[in-house]
Amino acid sequence: MSPGTPEPGTPGTDLHMHSTASDGALPPAELVHRAAALGVSRLALTDHDTTAGVAEAVRAGKAAGVEVVAGVELSTLWCGREIHVVGLGMAHHPVLDQGLAYQQQQRWQRAEAIAGRLHKRGLPGALQGVAGDGGRAPGRSHFADWLVAQGAVRDRPQAFKRYLGQQGAAWVRPAWVSLETGVRWIRLAGGTAVLAHPFAYRMTGAWRRRLCSAFVEAGGEAVEVVTGRTTPVQVRDGIGLALRHGLLASAGSDFHAPGTGLEPGRLLPLPDAVTPVSQLVSDHRDRDPGRAASGAPGTRPR
Ligand code: MN
Ligand code: MN
Ligand code: MN
Repeated sequence: MSPGTPEPGTPGTDLHMHSTASDGALPPAELVHRAAALGVSRLALTDHDTTAGVAEAVRAGKAAGVEVVAGVELSTLWCGREIHVVGLGMAHHPVLDQGLAYQQQQRWQRAEAIAGRLHKRGLPGALQGVAGDGGRAPGRSHFADWLVAQGAVRDRPQAFKRYLGQQGAAWVRPAWVSLETGVRWIRLAGGTAVLAHPFAYRMTGAWRRRLCSAFVEAGGEAVEVVTGRTTPVQVRDGIGLALRHGLLASAGSDFHAPGTGLEPGRLLPLPDAVTPVSQLVSDHRDRDPGRAASGAPGTRPR
């Protein structure tokens, strides 16, 4: 859609974005400036298992006139599957801080194990290769980029196929928190739990409905109906999920880097049939979102 097109329900809102605090390409402040230039007036920084970038994003948002919502994207496990849960509008809470520290520890342990498997296959030095500055935990996409840089694979998809994916030679099963506990952390911190990109999981419709039921049971309140990758058919199916399970609807680009996928705020309009989660998040606005990051030394490796 063109920059000036109004989005019914959520004008200028993008509630799912990544920075260099996890696997995004832009530092938090640059991300906010890019989003602002594209007409985004409210965004959530939702880095993987960390709120380390939120304070910087909030500062940049204040200067640029962009409302920044404290966010996170938790990797969780449900019935043996990896399910992502976006948290929006959290305040500081020790249980969430400890939870994020646990997730970061899992990320480092998994990274060491992946590097060990790559070493055994003649690719030493991966851990040093993926450890960025600032202490952010490496994820599989960092390994994929390293494998490409080494000339071991052609591109990211091949890196996942040969090494990092579930059928790959360096696959390591993650030990993420359970879906139920992850949702509880977000809720304890006063945040809203959103089921991320429900059509990105390879499962049947029946399993997807079961997932939504379990998510609601755990305290989940919203589902991403519009993401950077949803097709119009998936938006329609997402509306169905939201209505069937009584969930609010969220919209987020899942922006990671310029030139890959969707730019910030470039989203299909959120349909009128659903209630936007941004309404609920706005109601929490009087909280200082920066507190979610500033009071958590254990989750701020920088
Ligand atoms: Mn990512
Ligand atoms: Mn995700
Ligand atoms: Mn994401």
